[in-house]
Amino acid sequence: MAYDPNNIFAKILRGEVPSKKVHEDEHTLAFHDINPLTPSHILVIPKGPYVSFDDFSEKASDAEIAAFTRAIGKVARDHGLAGDGYRILANIGENAHQEVPHLHVHIFGGKRLGRMLP
Ligand code: IMP
Repeated sequence: MAYDPNNIFAKILRGEVPSKKVHEDEHTLAFHDINPLTPSHILVIPKGPYVSFDDFSEKASDAEIAAFTRAIGKVARDHGLAGDGYRILANIGENAHQEVPHLHVHIFGGKRLGRMLP
Protein backbone atom coordinates (compact mmCIF):
# COMPACT_ATOMS: atom_id res chain seq x y z
CA MET A 1 0.00 0.00 0.00
CA ALA A 2 1.37 3.42 -0.94
CA TYR A 3 1.80 5.91 1.90
CA ASP A 4 -1.04 8.46 2.08
CA PRO A 5 0.50 11.83 3.08
CA ASN A 6 -2.93 13.08 4.13
CA ASN A 7 -3.49 10.56 6.90
CA ILE A 8 -4.18 12.11 10.31
CA PHE A 9 -0.78 11.24 11.80
CA ALA A 10 1.04 12.79 8.83
CA LYS A 11 -0.98 15.95 9.56
CA ILE A 12 0.03 15.78 13.24
CA LEU A 13 3.68 15.43 12.18
CA ARG A 14 3.36 18.51 9.95
CA GLY A 15 1.69 20.46 12.76
CA GLU A 16 -1.57 20.79 10.81
CA VAL A 17 -3.54 18.91 13.49
CA PRO A 18 -2.85 19.45 17.22
CA SER A 19 -1.71 16.64 19.49
CA LYS A 20 -0.85 16.22 23.17
CA LYS A 21 2.83 15.50 22.64
CA VAL A 22 4.75 13.56 25.29
CA HIS A 23 8.02 12.81 23.47
CA GLU A 24 9.84 13.93 20.36
CA ASP A 25 13.26 13.12 18.94
CA GLU A 26 14.83 13.18 15.49
CA HIS A 27 12.98 10.06 14.32
CA THR A 28 9.99 9.63 16.62
CA LEU A 29 6.91 11.39 18.03
CA ALA A 30 4.64 10.22 20.85
CA PHE A 31 1.30 11.73 21.88
CA HIS A 32 -1.85 10.85 23.81
CA ASP A 33 -4.51 8.89 21.96
CA ILE A 34 -7.54 11.09 21.30
CA ASN A 35 -9.87 8.33 22.53
CA PRO A 36 -8.04 6.69 25.44
CA LEU A 37 -9.01 3.10 26.20
CA THR A 38 -6.92 2.91 29.41
CA PRO A 39 -5.80 5.57 31.95
CA SER A 40 -2.54 5.83 29.98
CA HIS A 41 -3.00 5.38 26.24
CA ILE A 42 -0.16 6.82 24.22
CA LEU A 43 0.73 6.39 20.56
CA VAL A 44 4.32 6.28 19.37
CA ILE A 45 4.98 6.91 15.69
CA PRO A 46 8.06 7.14 13.50
CA LYS A 47 8.46 10.44 11.65
CA GLY A 48 9.17 8.65 8.40
CA PRO A 49 6.39 7.71 5.96
CA TYR A 50 5.76 4.10 6.99
CA VAL A 51 2.28 2.66 6.53
CA SER A 52 2.68 -0.09 9.10
CA PHE A 53 5.17 -2.17 11.05
CA ASP A 54 5.49 -4.40 8.01
CA ASP A 55 6.70 -1.48 5.94
CA PHE A 56 8.87 -0.07 8.73
CA SER A 57 10.62 -3.34 9.55
CA GLU A 58 11.62 -3.70 5.90
CA LYS A 59 12.54 -0.12 4.97
CA ALA A 60 13.49 1.89 8.06
CA SER A 61 17.13 2.57 8.88
CA ASP A 62 18.75 1.03 11.93
CA ALA A 63 18.80 4.52 13.48
CA GLU A 64 15.03 4.90 13.00
CA ILE A 65 14.34 1.44 14.40
CA ALA A 66 16.57 2.08 17.39
CA ALA A 67 15.02 5.48 18.11
CA PHE A 68 11.49 4.09 17.80
CA THR A 69 12.19 1.15 20.11
CA ARG A 70 13.90 3.33 22.69
CA ALA A 71 11.15 5.95 22.57
CA ILE A 72 8.49 3.34 23.36
CA GLY A 73 10.36 2.18 26.45
CA LYS A 74 11.19 5.71 27.57
CA VAL A 75 7.62 6.96 27.24
CA ALA A 76 6.35 4.00 29.27
CA ARG A 77 8.96 4.59 31.98
CA ASP A 78 8.34 8.36 32.00
CA HIS A 79 4.65 7.69 32.62
CA GLY A 80 5.37 5.34 35.51
CA LEU A 81 4.15 2.24 33.69
CA ALA A 82 7.22 0.03 33.85
CA GLY A 83 6.79 -1.05 37.48
CA ASP A 84 3.29 -2.51 37.34
CA GLY A 85 3.45 -3.40 33.66
CA TYR A 86 1.81 -2.27 30.47
CA ARG A 87 1.04 -3.46 26.95
CA ILE A 88 2.35 -2.38 23.56
CA LEU A 89 0.39 -3.19 20.45
CA ALA A 90 0.55 -2.40 16.75
CA ASN A 91 -2.30 -3.21 14.39
CA ILE A 92 -1.10 -4.07 10.91
CA GLY A 93 -3.50 -3.95 7.98
CA GLU A 94 -7.08 -4.96 7.45
CA ASN A 95 -7.22 -8.20 9.44
CA ALA A 96 -5.98 -6.33 12.50
CA HIS A 97 -8.35 -3.35 11.94
CA GLN A 98 -5.57 -0.79 11.48
CA GLU A 99 -7.45 2.50 11.12
CA VAL A 100 -4.67 5.01 10.55
CA PRO A 101 -2.23 4.09 7.75
CA HIS A 102 0.90 5.39 9.49
CA LEU A 103 2.72 3.00 11.82
CA HIS A 104 1.77 3.54 15.44
CA VAL A 105 2.43 1.52 18.54
CA HIS A 106 -0.20 1.81 21.26
CA ILE A 107 1.02 1.92 24.85
CA PHE A 108 -1.77 0.82 27.20
CA GLY A 109 -1.35 1.06 30.96
CA GLY A 110 -2.36 2.60 34.25
CA LYS A 111 -4.67 -0.26 35.25
CA ARG A 112 -4.72 -4.04 35.34
CA LEU A 113 -5.37 -5.04 31.76
CA GLY A 114 -7.51 -7.89 30.52
CA ARG A 115 -5.88 -10.93 28.99
CA MET A 116 -5.41 -10.42 25.29
CA LEU A 117 -6.63 -13.17 23.03
CA PRO A 118 -6.99 -12.78 19.26
P1 IMP B 1 -5.56 1.70 15.05
O1 IMP B 1 -6.91 1.06 15.07
O2 IMP B 1 -4.50 0.80 15.64
O3 IMP B 1 -5.18 2.22 13.67
O4 IMP B 1 -5.64 2.93 16.04
C1 IMP B 1 -5.79 4.25 15.65
C2 IMP B 1 -5.81 5.07 16.91
O5 IMP B 1 -5.59 6.42 16.56
C3 IMP B 1 -7.12 5.01 17.69
O6 IMP B 1 -6.87 4.56 19.02
C4 IMP B 1 -7.62 6.46 17.64
O7 IMP B 1 -8.29 6.83 18.83
C5 IMP B 1 -6.34 7.22 17.44
N1 IMP B 1 -6.49 8.53 16.80
C6 IMP B 1 -7.16 8.84 15.66
N2 IMP B 1 -7.05 10.15 15.38
C7 IMP B 1 -6.27 10.68 16.35
C8 IMP B 1 -5.79 12.01 16.60
O8 IMP B 1 -6.05 12.98 15.88
N3 IMP B 1 -5.00 12.17 17.71
C9 IMP B 1 -4.69 11.13 18.55
N4 IMP B 1 -5.13 9.89 18.34
C10 IMP B 1 -5.91 9.66 17.26
